[in-house]
Amino acid sequence: MIQQRTLKILRDLVGFDTTSRLSNLDLIEAIQLQLDTLDIPCELTFNPDQSKANLFATIGDDSVPGLVLSGHTDVVPVDGQNWSSDPFSLRKSAGKLFGRGTCDMKGFIAVCLAMAETFKQAKLSVPIHFAFSYDEEVGCLGVRDLISELDKRVVKPLACIVGEPTSMQIVSAHKGMLDTLCTVKGCAGHSSLPDKGVNAIVVASRLIEKIQSLAHEVKENGPFDARFTPPHSTLHVGKIKGGTAVNIIPEHCEFEYEIRNIPAQDPQEIAQKVEDFARQNLLPEMQMVSQPSNIQWQTQAQFPGLDTPETAQINDWMKAVLHNDSAPGAVSYGTEAGLFSNIGIPTIVCGPGSIDQAHRHDEFVEIRQIETCIEFMHSVIEHMQRGEWLNPDGAGESHRSA
Ligand SMILES: [Zn+2]
Repeated sequence: MIQQRTLKILRDLVGFDTTSRLSNLDLIEAIQLQLDTLDIPCELTFNPDQSKANLFATIGDDSVPGLVLSGHTDVVPVDGQNWSSDPFSLRKSAGKLFGRGTCDMKGFIAVCLAMAETFKQAKLSVPIHFAFSYDEEVGCLGVRDLISELDKRVVKPLACIVGEPTSMQIVSAHKGMLDTLCTVKGCAGHSSLPDKGVNAIVVASRLIEKIQSLAHEVKENGPFDARFTPPHSTLHVGKIKGGTAVNIIPEHCEFEYEIRNIPAQDPQEIAQKVEDFARQNLLPEMQMVSQPSNIQWQTQAQFPGLDTPETAQINDWMKAVLHNDSAPGAVSYGTEAGLFSNIGIPTIVCGPGSIDQAHRHDEFVEIRQIETCIEFMHSVIEHMQRGEWLNPDGAGESHRSA
């Protein structure tokens, strides 16, 4: 019954092309309509041009600290990917559900929505919140407004589950990310007189060399965190653009690099080293030839790492609810979990499907994974009905209130 409903909802959700560059309002409206019929209140927060929205719904008593189930509604583009069928039309084959977002992460959202009525009928003393955001895939942008609204509340949720694909395993740590665009403005001239100009490509390449040497330094000297693969922060240059013709000294070059930091390392400190190098070693030379030359830095996206302590109650509670005693894992990809955690809501990542299937052509989620997620939601209800939930006074402690 719930499984059938989940499949139907997932089919609808996949049908909305919510690639991050597009509006998600049609999908949000459809979700809101469904929750309206169940008398479940929703709050929307919009982006500045009102083309996208987050949805925050509450099932139960708002004045009690509850549990947030969080997911993003946007998906990555299908451009240039070789799909075997229409990515925005759900296809069921050999125990798998194919379509963009099935695994990352409309499958989880579909389970939440299919369970909404059951959550409501269970009349839980602890409220369940749905937090469905936009623009996660472009740097966890949308959820920030939703989280800052949440942060203003007198009664904050006691825990959050971000349903990114972990094959329904508990993940309590992930790396953070800082994505920076560097723009070098040099000075153009005839290529036969290189000393009369400032070659922006050469300046950019020296910066990239510096980034590479810092990457090497971090790899050799740490800090290390053995839970991650690789067990240290990484630096990576992913895009570059510059120059117009081979006989012109290039005036413009820009490149984008990212730092994926282990939770214990501040990525700003690493970025500062790159910028200090530019200011001390490159700018004086450049400006000696041409005063207006410069190097600019612009943060494109960032999200904090997640490191929910082993002793946090949410870990033990999740193990009990999932009937799975393995130690919580760590992943190198990022989620919005670190943002929830930063406002004091203990957060873990756990959702259906494997990250191996995310962002690829022929993305799929196994039906078995959806079933496991549904079983998990039923187990949440059973545990809460038995009074097994986190102790509001014991944040960080590992016992449960019974
Ligand atoms: Zn995702």
